[in-house]
Amino acid sequence: MIVLKSAAELGKMRAAGRIVAEILSQLEGLIKPGITSGELDRFAEKECLRQGAKPAFKGYGGFPYTLCTSPNDRVVHGFPDGRPLVEGEILSIDFGVLYQGYYGDAAVTVPVGRIDAETTRLVEATRDSLRQAIEKAVPGGRLSDISHAVQSWVEPRGFSVVREFVGHGIGRQLHEAPQLPNFGAPGQGPRLKPGMTLAIEPMINAGSPGVKILEDGWTAVTQDGKRSAHFEHTVAITEHGPEILTRV
Ligand code: MG
Repeated sequence: MIVLKSAAELGKMRAAGRIVAEILSQLEGLIKPGITSGELDRFAEKECLRQGAKPAFKGYGGFPYTLCTSPNDRVVHGFPDGRPLVEGEILSIDFGVLYQGYYGDAAVTVPVGRIDAETTRLVEATRDSLRQAIEKAVPGGRLSDISHAVQSWVEPRGFSVVREFVGHGIGRQLHEAPQLPNFGAPGQGPRLKPGMTLAIEPMINAGSPGVKILEDGWTAVTQDGKRSAHFEHTVAITEHGPEILTRV
């Protein structure tokens, strides 16, 4: 069942989303050659707690960290570690909080220093596909209009959509109904209504769509070793159109 949120609940989700956005923006500012994802994780956790929020991922299904940090060919759910980032890499950071009983969830892929033209194209296509998808989060549309917007944006540009992981409803739970794939024909699935809140999160590969899970049981990597990018916003569907909740 898709839980519709009241105006008061959207207010709380806006507050949670703002914390996510602020901290992600701070993290983006810290990313440069030499910093480690472990340092970013500690920064995010400290800042989260300072703001009175709880890291959403730490302990979720046994995930051990505040951030999912996924460099280069890592798709999602990577563990922060002590390896210094290197110029030319990309780092995807996924981050969520629980604040006053409601979740916010967002992700960005950030260049480490200067990156090559092909990687730039991947990152920009993924970011733009999220923008296209959000435009479809309007009352009267259908859920798969959002899915289709991602696929029809990235595939003509030569990139592929990860199938194994999908976006999701969000609210009092980190993952609520409905599941929101980033592929599929438009015009299908539930009718979109004001009060729906969705975490829309394209995960896009430079090469083929296949992924595999590393021995840690969490980290998803591309099967072909090529790079992957990930952007995510928590979005509310309102009478006036989509409202991005995870924005500063
Ligand atoms: Mg998510």
